Amino acid sequence: MTHEEQVRRMTEMMAKFVGHTGKKLPDDVIAKLEELRGKEDSPMAKVIYDTMFRNQELAVKLNRPSCQDTGVLQFWVKCGTRFPLIDDLEALLREAVIKATFETPLRHNSVETFDEYNTGKNVGKGTPTVWWDIVPHSDKCEIYTYMAGGGCTLPGNATVLMPGEGYEGVTKFVLDRMTSYGLNACPPLLVGVGVATSVETAALLSKKALMRPIGSHNENERAAKMEKLLEDGINAIGLGPQGMGGNYSVMGVHIENTARHPSAIGVAVNVGCWSHRRGHIIFDKDLNYTITTHSGVEL
Ligand code: SF4
Repeated sequence: MTHEEQVRRMTEMMAKFVGHTGKKLPDDVIAKLEELRGKEDSPMAKVIYDTMFRNQELAVKLNRPSCQDTGVLQFWVKCGTRFPLIDDLEALLREAVIKATFETPLRHNSVETFDEYNTGKNVGKGTPTVWWDIVPHSDKCEIYTYMAGGGCTLPGNATVLMPGEGYEGVTKFVLDRMTSYGLNACPPLLVGVGVATSVETAALLSKKALMRPIGSHNENERAAKMEKLLEDGINAIGLGPQGMGGNYSVMGVHIENTARHPSAIGVAVNVGCWSHRRGHIIFDKDLNYTITTHSGVEL
């Protein structure tokens, strides 16, 4: 394949992959929703879960997005410096979003700020969002895709706490957000928490936390314990599926952290909804791909 053909091929594959993630939830999300349905006692909660599963079946059968809000597209790219398409990546992801918008189709969710018009293509100034992690000495490219819907983006928040507020302050910040805005995000939620120094470092970590597989834990055992405590605390609010009441409010709580300045605790929260449309695909230098989030996909 020539370089141009490779760019075209990767654009097509990414457009198809993005479209697929809009129609079918990741395997781990489906498994978790099934587990939670089994653990609810109330008929209302069970009916809501059954409606979600029916919705998923119909989305695949009718070849339509599984939620009407297909979000703003966000990509987290971990790209090797020797990946042959590294220079073309950002432009081809933008092109892939335009293609997916018309072919899938996806809802038009890119409104130019201040000019207040919808571009109709899901791309605009700075959209789709692409975050880069450059990986030295590698010829692979790993891409996380995410559809950031309006409702599930709404609870997002970040702040810097006084050092004396400690982990209790982190807990209060997260729970205040869950009790006020959690309902808007179509529970059961996946809650991402970032703990670092400043708002932007914490905010990025809180989104990165949503890319982790459900059931994974922070590698630090104290942080993993806090994930469990927060999970129990948010479940105790009793949001249940779609906020209509139930034993479980969350699919999980993921904390990502860095070291921090001793005088500040940056903390952020980000939320994924029951329709948590994240995808993960890894390309080698010849564009052979491995998809870790969705089984049975051919691009
Ligand atoms: S919160 Fe999620 S499921 Fe609810 S409308 Fe938004 S994207 Fe759809």
